[in-house]
Amino acid sequence: MQDQYGRKIEYLRISVTDKCNFRCVYCMPEDGVEYIEHEEVMRFEEVLRVCRCAVQLGIHEIKITGGEPLVRHGVCDLIRQISAIDGIDSVTLTTNGYLLRQYLPQLKSAGVTGINVSLDTLDPQHFHQITRNDGLSEVLAGIKEAVSIGIPSVKINCVPMRGNQDDFVGVAMLAKDAPVHVRFIELMPIGMGQEFDRISQEQMIENLEARIGKLIPVQEHLGNGPAVYYKADGFLGRIGFISAISHEFCQDCNRIRMTVDGYLKLCLNYSSHINVRDYIRSGATDEELEHFLKAAIYGKPRHHGFLEKNNAEKESRKMVEIGG
Ligand code: SAM
Ligand code: SF4
Repeated sequence: MQDQYGRKIEYLRISVTDKCNFRCVYCMPEDGVEYIEHEEVMRFEEVLRVCRCAVQLGIHEIKITGGEPLVRHGVCDLIRQISAIDGIDSVTLTTNGYLLRQYLPQLKSAGVTGINVSLDTLDPQHFHQITRNDGLSEVLAGIKEAVSIGIPSVKINCVPMRGNQDDFVGVAMLAKDAPVHVRFIELMPIGMGQEFDRISQEQMIENLEARIGKLIPVQEHLGNGPAVYYKADGFLGRIGFISAISHEFCQDCNRIRMTVDGYLKLCLNYSSHINVRDYIRSGATDEELEHFLKAAIYGKPRHHGFLEKNNAEKESRKMVEIGG
């Protein structure tokens, strides 16, 4: 369906947990967050109901995220069931990769169509500083195995921060010898992200070109997101950029989000008061639920206001709580 500004909404990102085995500095405080009560968490049958209704409105791509989605028991089975819904043609997962290797066989047989692994550095010490975890080798093993068992699309998501030039060049190099696309996600001023400095896309390109040679823009759409891609000579994978602040892409935004406790987020930047879990639990029929989703989607804001000073509706929860 189209929203009030004529954008076609086809993509739903579902957060299945606010728990995580990492504590990335720009996402989660070191001592964690106050977890959502068990009974407030969307049950998988509720998530599936939302997916079935969303399909009726034209949503056909689902992303499972979190927190760390692989820490929620049964997530592979959820992916299997979402994949089986008529009209869904892509179910992908975003993970920190720590538990990936052990779940890959299940994920593959569940029909996952793509896996995005978040990785900001190949340096074990920096990895520990950023994630407060020592699992770099597990993450790298997960990426390698995902490629070798034939997951249809494997991408790396890297959030570069000022001062981490060697880190992001190292991560870009993963696209040289393996068919993985490395995307640089501009740090967003959400929650902990407000405490760090982002690097502009132009600065990144300059730094990367000095180390890996010319980046040539390509007009490829590799998935359902707003990334713009470049190719580097001799690289099997592409280098992409998702720069929500410096290259705002709101006019083409095709996505909505649902938090672990059932809030529909129509834009990352704004807090949400639309709770689909409460609506389901109040006894709504499928038809009513479809109308509910439709009205919410229609009202999607025109664009984010990350840089606006007096943004009264600004999201105050942390990224791990809202689902990145
Ligand atoms: N735990 C999984 C992971 O790390 O991929 C899924 C959830 S995580 C919140 C999703 C993505 O959001 C990750 O790629 C992470 O790097 C990114 N992220 C977290 N905080 C961010 C911020 N302030 N700005 C930009 N991206 C952020
Ligand atoms: Fe966990 Fe992902 Fe947030 Fe890192 S970015 S703390 S892995 S949810």
